[in-house]
Order: sequence, then structure tokens, then C-alpha cells
Amino acid sequence: MLDTTSWTALTGVMIGAGSIVLLGVRYYRKHLAAIRENYLQECQAMLDLLPQRLYRVDRKGRLTFLNRPLLEDLDLPLSACLGKTANDIYPPELAEKYNADDQRVLSGETLTLIEENVVPATGEKRYVEVTKIPIYSTSGTVTGIQGIYWDITARKQAEEQLRQAARVFENTMEGVMVTDASERITMINQAFTKITGYSKAEVLGKTPRLFKSSRQDPQFYAAMWASIQKTGHWQGEVWNCRKDGEAYPQWLTISTVADDNGQVTHYVGVFSDISSLKRSQEKLNFLAHHDLLTHLPNRLLFNARLEHSIERAKRTQKSLAVLFFDLDHFKNVNDTLGHAAGDDLLRWVAKQLATLVRCEDTVARMGGDEFTMLIEAVDEPNNAATVAYKVLELFREPLHISRHEFFISTSIGISLYPADGNDADTLVRNADAAMYQAKAQGRNNYQFYKPEMTARVLERLQLETSLRRAVEHEELIVFYQPQVNIASGRLTGVEALLRWQHHQYGMILPSHFIPVAEETGFISTLDTWVMRTACRQMQRWRDQGLALPRLSLNLSVRQIEQTDLTSLVATVLSETELDPAFLELEITESLIMRQTTQAIRAMKGLQSLGVWLAVDDFGTGYSSLSYLKQLPLHRLKIDQSFVCDITSDPNDEAIVRAIIALAHGLGLQVIAEGVETGEQAGFLQQQGCEEAQGYLYGYPVPADEFARTYGHLLN
Ligand code: C2E
Ligand code: MG
Ligand code: MG
Repeated sequence: MLDTTSWTALTGVMIGAGSIVLLGVRYYRKHLAAIRENYLQECQAMLDLLPQRLYRVDRKGRLTFLNRPLLEDLDLPLSACLGKTANDIYPPELAEKYNADDQRVLSGETLTLIEENVVPATGEKRYVEVTKIPIYSTSGTVTGIQGIYWDITARKQAEEQLRQAARVFENTMEGVMVTDASERITMINQAFTKITGYSKAEVLGKTPRLFKSSRQDPQFYAAMWASIQKTGHWQGEVWNCRKDGEAYPQWLTISTVADDNGQVTHYVGVFSDISSLKRSQEKLNFLAHHDLLTHLPNRLLFNARLEHSIERAKRTQKSLAVLFFDLDHFKNVNDTLGHAAGDDLLRWVAKQLATLVRCEDTVARMGGDEFTMLIEAVDEPNNAATVAYKVLELFREPLHISRHEFFISTSIGISLYPADGNDADTLVRNADAAMYQAKAQGRNNYQFYKPEMTARVLERLQLETSLRRAVEHEELIVFYQPQVNIASGRLTGVEALLRWQHHQYGMILPSHFIPVAEETGFISTLDTWVMRTACRQMQRWRDQGLALPRLSLNLSVRQIEQTDLTSLVATVLSETELDPAFLELEITESLIMRQTTQAIRAMKGLQSLGVWLAVDDFGTGYSSLSYLKQLPLHRLKIDQSFVCDITSDPNDEAIVRAIIALAHGLGLQVIAEGVETGEQAGFLQQQGCEEAQGYLYGYPVPADEFARTYGHLLN
């Protein structure tokens, strides 16, 4: 048992010890608080260091905690933020959304979302990934929300860019191929497959050598790789093979992709298939240098080749020849049988001409029915003549093309280098001039160029221009020549003959300008003008009481074959009010001989109008009797060349006698042209020829003079 003192001592010790313990506990508590404070500060510091935004809100959505990055977003001190709600910080729609999300979290859900957000301080939009977790009390109730979010805008943008790049990669028209540094294919796009025919599975892991064609030599590839290694880049045209083996041209760009150390990691090849581009380029090139219809070289290419050949001929001291062809009366083929037949003929001619020459020579189509030939290394002019002769031979027989039979010929002009010119233009021009000479010589022949031909061509050109002017300046006049009944001497008709009263050269006769007008097609204008003028004059005479029974007009072959003659004549007759029975149209025998459907149709049309038809210059052609019989003709005009020597040349006498008999046999009337003497008239009358025209009865004169001079012959 302890005594009191002991108790007291013990108590004292115990109190002392208790005090110490108490002191110790107090000290320990303080120490713990300090540790805790320190810990919290360290936590806060760590949370502040995180790039993620962290916050806590209570059940009412009031902020109870935020880390520094979030404070920076708000640009407010902590004290100003604590207690704030989403409504205080964000725009209404955003706050509303956050509140709705918060409600779900408060009911126990954990949300992880990617959403659009704004930086409250700046209003800047950004993408964030956010996680919201409920905070539970120890009793298990939700007391608030803990949220963490981080800015993923850069990642989103990168993803978007990648997506776009992938879309471009897949949808681009260019083929794309990526290889690794050891040239193994790692990626291709759809266009690659479309162009090459290879699928992904077929090419991945392979090298681009799979597509190699034999079109490029090793030096080509060496240069390509040298450029890639030096500049990281190469661009150019390459021929590669498709899966089916077809070689095709690519426009290829190769770029290298390097890592941060500059080490090549990939090669990217982007290419387009330029085969169709190449084809159209080639086509354009062909079109620019060839004639579409015949596929022969055109004027441009011909001239270029000619220039080239002249250069060579200069060096080698050789000659060369240029042949210029023009088909005779080609226009008639077009006009009567149609353009398709005309085209067929041109194609046929082109093909034939091409077979006549050696491969080093050139045949070209200059346009229309004009062709040229360049013959290289001509030893003597005769070589060129031989070729020309062969060409003429081509046309000797009738041609059968697209179910038509053609009789066609060509006129050829030849010029020689160096004799007739030193340059392409001159040689072609001179061959052209020689061709005109061949035409003037009756067509279907060839002529070598002679210097005086140039002058003639110039003359023609001038004639053509001034002829057009003649119409405008009213330099044309119609003269009238009487036609009479030989027995009675009475006027039976009048022939209208065209004259050109040139302001400088005076009176020009038709033989000088009609061939040019026929060649250029201007004859239609002339003939129409003469028809109008003469019909009006005829009607005027009749109105004045000068009862001329017949007006004869000359028609050019061209006019008949090219225009709708029937309606032209009908129009002129109704305009001038002339009765068709007073009009006779003279057609040359050569037209009749051509027997074209167009001419026959025109003659039948004219007959139906009630107009008379005569064959002019009869005897100069070779009319077939049976054919003449089928035509609606009324009169034959014996050509003056027979009449001229009728009394001295027994042949002509026989011919005239035969013509008269023939005409009567066919039920046609006869008139003799160019009757100058009474003797001729006497012979003709004796042979039964009814009518005559010629200087014996009267010269062609202007209208007023005609009435004055020959009016009395009507009575
Ligand atoms: P053509 O129709 O045979 O005309 C007769 C030609 O002989 C006329 O020549 C006339 O003046 C000429 N002549 C008349 N009587 C005699 C004579 O007794 N002796 C000689 N030596 N000649 C005589 P012109 O007027 O020079 O006409 C020549 C040709 O031009 C005409 O031959 C005709 O084919 C053509 N021609 C004339 N006018 C026209 C026209 O308006 N249109 C067309 N397409 N051709 C026309
Ligand atoms: Mg006539
Ligand atoms: Mg005549």
C-alpha cells in the first residue's frame, strides 16, 4: 500500500507526466497541422503545375477549388473565383450545358466528354477533353463534383489535317506512291490503282522497278536519282508500264521525306497519266500540219519540207522539182454529185498521188482541189515530167468512186530548183503559174514554168479584181446582134453579147474576161446581170412597138450547173414581165456533152417555164445523137469555124451539110453563126438552113443603136 506521501509523490509524478503528455500531444497536433498544411501546399503546387485544368464545385455548382491554369484562363485571383458558378463565368448556352452535365454527375454518373469550350478571359474557342466525377462524403452522399479538362485543340486540328490529307490522298486524280528509304512501297492511293491497274496488295512491299518500261535508259535513271539526292526532288516525264503491260507516259514528281536528323525516311511519288494529253497534243500537231480530209501534209508542212529540201539541195548541189496540180472542173463534181462524192474523189486522188512518189518525196494538199508534190534529187527536168505524165495517166480511164463514174483530169505546173526559184514561196508560186498555163492550154496537160507566166498570172489577178469593180462602176454593157431569116432577110431574133467598157483599156471582148470569170465563179453574177438587163430591154422594145420575136442569151456552163437556173429565170421573167416564149437560152455543146444530172434537170426546168433552148457552137463537141434526142432542145447554132471556110473547104462544107440534116432529122431548127459573105449565106440557104447571124447582117451594137439600125428589118 502506498502512504500519503507516496501517493502525493506519485500523483505529482503522474500530473507531471500528464502535463508532459499533454504538452507532447499539443506539440504533436501542431506538428501534424504543419505537416498537413505543408502537404496541402505541395499538392496545390503540384496541381498548379499540371497543364490540365482542375476544379471542384459543391452541389450548388459553386467553385470550391481551382488550379492555376484554370485561374489563368479566368484571369482572376482565387478569391474572386471561389463561390462562382458556371452561370457567372460562361456564356448562357455553355453554362446551361454545363449545368445539365453537372446534374448527371450529381446523380452519380462519371462523364468523359470531348466538347467545345471557350477561354473565359479571351473568348477564344477551343476543344477540351473533360472528365467530371462525383465527390462522395464519408456517408456516401454526393457533395460535389470534381472536374478535370485539358485543351486538345492542337490535337483536334492535327487530326482534322490528317483527315483532310487522307481524303486528298485518296481522292486526288494523281496517283500517289510512298516508299520507305529502301524504296519498298508502303502506301498507294486509289488513283494509283486506277492508273496502273495494280491493287494495294499487289504492290505493297515491292519496289517501283515493277513498273519500269524499256523506254528509258540507265543514264536517265542515274540522272533522276542524282537530282533526288542532291535537291530532294525530281520532276519529269517517264514512261512506265501498267499491269497489262501497256507503256504509258507519266508526269512524275518525286520528293524525299527526311526525319529530324535529315535522314531520308520516305520517298513520295506523285504522277498523272498524260497519255491522253500526249495523244491530243500529237493530234493537234498532226492537225496543224495535215489536211483532215486526205491526211496528206498541208501547205504549212509542205512549205517546211520544201525549205528543208532546198537547204539540203544547196549543200548537195542537187535539183528538186515542185509539181502543182489542180483538178479540172472539180467544182462540177461537187456541185452535181454532192460534196461526199467530191470528198471521195479528193481522197482517191490523194492516195493515188502518194503511190506515185518515193518515200523521200512529199505529196501535199494545198486546199480545195489543189495538190502539190515535192520531188527530191531531180537529175534532169525529164524526171519531173515523167511523174507528171504518170499523174495524167491516172485520170485517163473513168474513175469509179462511191457508185459514181467520174471523168476528170488535172492540169499540172512544174517549177524546178534552182532554175525557177531559190526559196519555197517562189517555187510554189511559179509551179502554180505554170499550172494556170496548163489550164489555158486546154487542161489535162503539164507545163514547165517560164518567166513570162508570172506576168500572165498577175494579169489574171488584176483582171479578176477589176472585173468585180466593173460591175460596181457600171462598165458593163450588153450589145445586141441581129439574127435573120436568110430567105426573107427579116429579123427573127437578137443575141445579147456582153461587153466591158474599161475606163482605161476601152472595149474588152468576152473572150478576154469570160474564162477568168468562169474560173473564179464570178460568171454567175455576170450572166444574171446580162439576163436582167437584156430581158428588160427586150420588153421595153416590145412595149415601144419593136416586136422582136426572140432574145437569145448565152449561159455559162458554170451558171447552169451551179445555180437554181429555173427559178432564177422565172424570177427575172416575172420582174421584167417578159413572156417566156420570147426568150431563148444558148448552151454550149460542151455542157450537153457532160451529161450531168444537174444540167439535164436545169434544161427540163427551163422547158417547163416555156423558154427555148439552143445549142451554141454546135459541131465543136462530140454530141451523141441519141443523147441529143432526149433533150428538150429547139435549135442548133452551127459554129462559126465551119461557116468561115464553108465555100472553100470541102470538109467544112460536108460538116455543115451534115449538121443541117441532123438538126432537121431531130426536128430542130438551125441557125448559122459568123456569116460574113453573101456566098456563105447562099450556100447555107441552099442546104436548108433557115437563119443566120453575122457581120453580113449586122454587128453587135448597143440597144439604142440596134433599134435605129435594125428596126426596119422587122417590117
Ligand atoms: P457566141 O455566143 O458564139 O457569140 C458569137 C460570137 O461571134 C460573138 O463574139 C460575136 O460578136 C461574134 N460574131 C458575130 N458575127 C460574127 C461574124 O460574122 N464573124 C465573126 N468572126 N464573129 C462574129 P463575142 O461577142 O466576142 O462573144 C464571144 C463569146 O463570148 C460568145 O460566143 C459567147 O460564148 C460568150 N459570151 C458573150 N456574151 C456572153 C454572156 O453574156 N454570157 C456568157 N456566159 N457568155 C457570153
Ligand atoms: Mg451565143
Ligand atoms: Mg457561138
